[in-house]
Amino acid sequence: MHYVILRDDDTSAFTPPACLERIYRPFLDRGMPVNLAVIPEVRTDVRTPDGWLEGYLTSGRGPSTPLAPIGLAREIVEYIRGEPGYHVVQHGCHHDIFEFGGTDRVELARRLDLGAQFLGEAGLGRPRAFVAPYDRMSRAAFVEVAARFDVISTGWFEARRLPRRWWAAFALKKLLGHQHWRAGGEYLLSHPGCLLSFRRPREQMLASVRKAVEGASLTVLVMHWWEFFRGGVPDEKLIGIAHEVADWLASRQDVRVVSFDDVAKGGVPLR
Ligand SMILES: [Zn+2]
Repeated sequence: MHYVILRDDDTSAFTPPACLERIYRPFLDRGMPVNLAVIPEVRTDVRTPDGWLEGYLTSGRGPSTPLAPIGLAREIVEYIRGEPGYHVVQHGCHHDIFEFGGTDRVELARRLDLGAQFLGEAGLGRPRAFVAPYDRMSRAAFVEVAARFDVISTGWFEARRLPRRWWAAFALKKLLGHQHWRAGGEYLLSHPGCLLSFRRPREQMLASVRKAVEGASLTVLVMHWWEFFRGGVPDEKLIGIAHEVADWLASRQDVRVVSFDDVAKGGVPLR
């Protein structure tokens, strides 16, 4: 059996429900859980290193206040709550650039707790999984996140960013060539990059997803809703490819789409 986790990043107070609905309806209708990495209180002027406002802001719309809590955007909250196929994951707190790359444990802890508070107050529950903005985590961030969450999903792992008490487990993971691993009771999941992205060649997208899924016991597929709606305009071709992925996943008897919550419950073999 091949297990797949669908992870969509960057839902916030700026996300139009219609965008998520358009991309994920074919997955949800087939009973496939979709994990939404939700920004609890998005900063509304975050810019990429080259100076552009972040795509998750420009592809949607939201308030002009410096910070926008998800709970004030009732439309998106009600939409997520109304669809049992969505599973909420905490995605940082404000999504500042490399928000969890810093070393100040007190500040990291404050952001984690504040983010959890905003999600809870919005009625989105208490997530068991964490995704760091830009997949960037310092050693201090791993320590604080592990104290609060059961599952961490990120791009890859490096010894210099990991808690020293995890080094022996990490060395074994490296030796055995495992993609996903456990340390200190934590589930640590990597992913093969954003295969469904406007930055990738479209002709090879479906094939690259198939190759990744067929080549592993568990694959985390990362998507960003706003890449399908850059500047608020639907990218029909890219949306079509996502729907082809849904068709292909559904067509395979040996593929099961699961949630991070399933991993947290111990129900998904990591290899
Ligand atoms: Zn993000």
